[in-house]
Amino acid sequence: MAAVKANAYGHGLAVCAPELARAGVEGFAVASMEEAEQLYDLALGPPACLLAGPFAPEEIPLAAARGHILVVHRAAQLAWLQTQRWDRPLSIWIKVDSGMHRLGFAPRALGPVFEALSAVHSPLRILGLMSHLARSDTPDDPHNVRQIREFRAVIGQWGERTLGEHSLANSGAILALGEARFPWMRPGLMLYGLSPFPGQTGRDLGLRPALSWQAQIIATRRLAPGEWLGYGAAYQAPHEQRVGVVACGYGDGFDRHLGQGAPVWIGSQRSQTLGRVSMDLLFVDLQDSDAQEGDWVILMGVGAEPLESLAERLGTIPYELGTRIQARVPRVLV
Ligand code: PLP
Repeated sequence: MAAVKANAYGHGLAVCAPELARAGVEGFAVASMEEAEQLYDLALGPPACLLAGPFAPEEIPLAAARGHILVVHRAAQLAWLQTQRWDRPLSIWIKVDSGMHRLGFAPRALGPVFEALSAVHSPLRILGLMSHLARSDTPDDPHNVRQIREFRAVIGQWGERTLGEHSLANSGAILALGEARFPWMRPGLMLYGLSPFPGQTGRDLGLRPALSWQAQIIATRRLAPGEWLGYGAAYQAPHEQRVGVVACGYGDGFDRHLGQGAPVWIGSQRSQTLGRVSMDLLFVDLQDSDAQEGDWVILMGVGAEPLESLAERLGTIPYELGTRIQARVPRVLV
């Protein structure tokens, strides 16, 4: 099950989901009914599974009609399943809290859960039990062992009341925790060639990064020594300096903290950002470059700095850096 929530981790649902379907994924993990419906409109075949996603009781019949899979994680949802009516079989997973304490039923609450499910009168397929690991990005952490042990115990006790299609592993667990692999796996970040492990890039793990964020130089100018550049006059040219104005800004999701001195690439030449990032524009140093208006600057990803290292520089994670890229940035498959 490929996690394509948040616009495929910022990579673009409409370009990534068809590729993933062609590659043979059997389901898509999304975060909302809206994302499930976007996938439905792409008519790719594999169903969308709402991992956590808020859904309203009235949307249950819609989920059944569309073939969306729901992850049931709280008592109110069980009550909705009892009161709503639908025709086509609705597939669900039961989310179990194996120790992350974010979502899911406590193992001791599963008796009443299955009791409640037996009082659902519309067609229901209980695929299996699902849980999520809190620390799969640090595979050696004993927390993982405890959660896996707990999940296995729950399967031992309740698994037979389901179709046995259990699911635990996300990228970190798929890459490093063999015991966490059950029939359904839910990779997200690794599908885009990125690493969930701090201090390592996707390439370090043998993955191939998918994203190359590029923007065009739409103007060039030559600063005289001492001239100031951009908002806040935040940069002063120490000598005569050629500068490129690039059509990308924080309105596109490019972090303002990458305004001065962040590495970017123009073809095979390394350069850097200058001054402040505006909403729609940023500056790059063209001092040692023969780049012209119309040329493309690679801001991050393939051909430039890995998302993992830029994320580290910004004190965040590659997950966040990718999902910050705004919808207005065209995603193109090359
Ligand atoms: N499963 C659940 C419940 C998630 O919340 C996520 C991501 O946030 C994933 C799977 C995919 O995780 P990853 O991108 O680390 O593979």
